[in-house]
Amino acid sequence: MADPSINDRAVEGDMARTVEQVRDAVRRHSARFERAIPLIASENLLSPYAKELLVSDFHSRYAEGLPGERYYEGNEQVDEVETLCLDLARRLFRCSFADVRPISGTVANLAVLKALAEPGDLVGTCRLADGAHISSASFGAFGLRSVKPVYYAWDSERMTIDVPKTKEILRSVRPKLCLFGLSLFLFPLPISELSSTLEEVGARGWYDGAHVLGLIAGGEFQDPLHEGCVVLSASTHKTLPGPQHGILLGNTDDPEVVKRLTSAAFPGVTSNHHLHTMAALAVSLAEHLAFGRAYARQVIANAKALGAALHARGFDVLGEPLGFTASHTLAVRVTREGGGEEVARKLAAAGIITNKNLLPGDTSPKHPGGIRLGTPEVTRVGMGEKEMVRIAELMDDLLHRGRDPAAVAQDAAAFKLGYTGLRYCFGAGEAAYRYYDLVGHPPA
Ligand SMILES: *Cc1c(COP(=O)(O)O)cnc(C)c1O
Repeated sequence: MADPSINDRAVEGDMARTVEQVRDAVRRHSARFERAIPLIASENLLSPYAKELLVSDFHSRYAEGLPGERYYEGNEQVDEVETLCLDLARRLFRCSFADVRPISGTVANLAVLKALAEPGDLVGTCRLADGAHISSASFGAFGLRSVKPVYYAWDSERMTIDVPKTKEILRSVRPKLCLFGLSLFLFPLPISELSSTLEEVGARGWYDGAHVLGLIAGGEFQDPLHEGCVVLSASTHKTLPGPQHGILLGNTDDPEVVKRLTSAAFPGVTSNHHLHTMAALAVSLAEHLAFGRAYARQVIANAKALGAALHARGFDVLGEPLGFTASHTLAVRVTREGGGEEVARKLAAAGIITNKNLLPGDTSPKHPGGIRLGTPEVTRVGMGEKEMVRIAELMDDLLHRGRDPAAVAQDAAAFKLGYTGLRYCFGAGEAAYRYYDLVGHPPA
């Protein structure tokens, strides 16, 4: 038999190289994004003070339960931070209930489904092709909870729910819960217009604000908890530039609803609630109270400017009669340019990071007719309307003028390297794509 210590040393050397390979890939990734133009609508950048907490000792701990009633000892500072986090959330969203234990938007959605629906219930939602998230698909959270979707009627021209037709649907089908939320979220949804019908049929309103949470908090989109929704579930890392985490917010004085949401969050869908990201969320919420209004305003102004600049260069940007968007997102039909898949791939080769996206009327989920663009990240590094025109020019060069992707990538990098410092946070100016080398040397 071989000497196990020799064997271990060989494995150790091998694994040291593997660890270094992982570190190097992450470093190369950061360098790549620093030189790219990231336009994924669901992505954002964390502030330095929030990011710092991700490698804190909070990462090593458990704190099941709520502040003051934990299942483990040693949680005094965790309680202090979580209490602050909850206070900041209720203040930012002007609401009575918050739970910061869901670890992502999908997990927050599962909590709502567990709390407010039973298997077999009918739940209203938009179709995937009209922009809904996979949470409301049979292969997603809806399927896991065994609830059945009832689809709202869609107005493709105005890219929102068709109110008169949807009222009819709600009256005839009478769902128990009505979900309002999208991943292709261009315009506010008509919740106020539908709230009397919800009441009439006895349905609760539920808003999935994963995409637009930072715009809602900035007071620049809609205010679902004051328009008739009982609960708002969300991710905290899309337009809200926080850590990858989830949140539940509510405006209800019904103690039964509060109790059901609380026990759905824990022990329903979490055990550990990722304390390091919860602490980072407290920082991001505080920073949003300080800087969120100006940030949200600029994110939307940039999206509108990018829409107009693309339209002026012959792109088929949806929502034209309404100014293309009222959010951080644009939808562009790219049939003429080669379809969503090919266009997204070409753009990435030229340093412009987007995603292919289903659009209303698409019949095959495998061949999306469009791309989705978002302005949160480019806004966060200090770009304004004039920079949006430059991005549209680069896209036009590549997709309409046949310019070589490598040449466009060079231009994109030269342009982007002027915008690598964070804005709208404490420690503004800090490198947005910095790799923190905590150890200071590679493993050996
Ligand atoms: C992104 C998204 C989610 C899922 O959020 P995760 O944090 O990625 O789990 C849920 N709902 C909508 C509408 C989304 O866009």
